[in-house]
Amino acid sequence: MQSSNLKISNASFRKVIDAGDYFIGVVLKGETFRILDLKGNQAADTLFFNAHNASERYSAMDTMREQANVYLTTGTKLRSNLNNVMLEITADICGRHDTLGGACSTESNTVRYDLEKRCMHSCRDSWMLAIAEHPEYGITKRDIGHNINFFMNVPVTEDGGLTFADGISGAGKYVELVAHMDTIVLISNCPQLNNPCNGFNPTPIEFIVWAE
Ligand SMILES: [Zn+2]
Repeated sequence: MQSSNLKISNASFRKVIDAGDYFIGVVLKGETFRILDLKGNQAADTLFFNAHNASERYSAMDTMREQANVYLTTGTKLRSNLNNVMLEITADICGRHDTLGGACSTESNTVRYDLEKRCMHSCRDSWMLAIAEHPEYGITKRDIGHNINFFMNVPVTEDGGLTFADGISGAGKYVELVAHMDTIVLISNCPQLNNPCNGFNPTPIEFIVWAE
């Protein structure tokens, strides 16, 4: 666990992301941003892209292989599909973030839960809406890859399985990252209602940036 010395009063940008909504924006090299869990137990399904070439994007396998650990926390360097360091986690008072579980989608909701869940709002739908509403970032459907579920607790069991466990985040917990390259940040504030990743009650999060 590592807390931050940055003061909210010095922030250059703040945006509350409502439950089930998305955020897309660019963080410049050297800038630090915080994702703040305002009410607690909320998953933030996040993708990262090189702001100058969206085909370079966050890679879960490169990140896990290089740090030899499946969990993300302070000190984790987030790597791209070209094995470049995109971002680094510099503060974390939640302590557990998942990059194995993937994002919720129409398909996974119907397979995991019930056919009648087909029309429920999902993170993948939020990302697709974001890239459709913001063509200026140059992100296409084929660029949607691995993601990080900030604040989500997906422990690996002793026999190697994955479980969606109850969240360990709480109101006011946050994770902070410094950008090692100009990076597009695309966050779906998860609308999932079928598993405990949001405590069955999606709530807002806040995105905060400090210029270098
Ligand atoms: Zn989701």
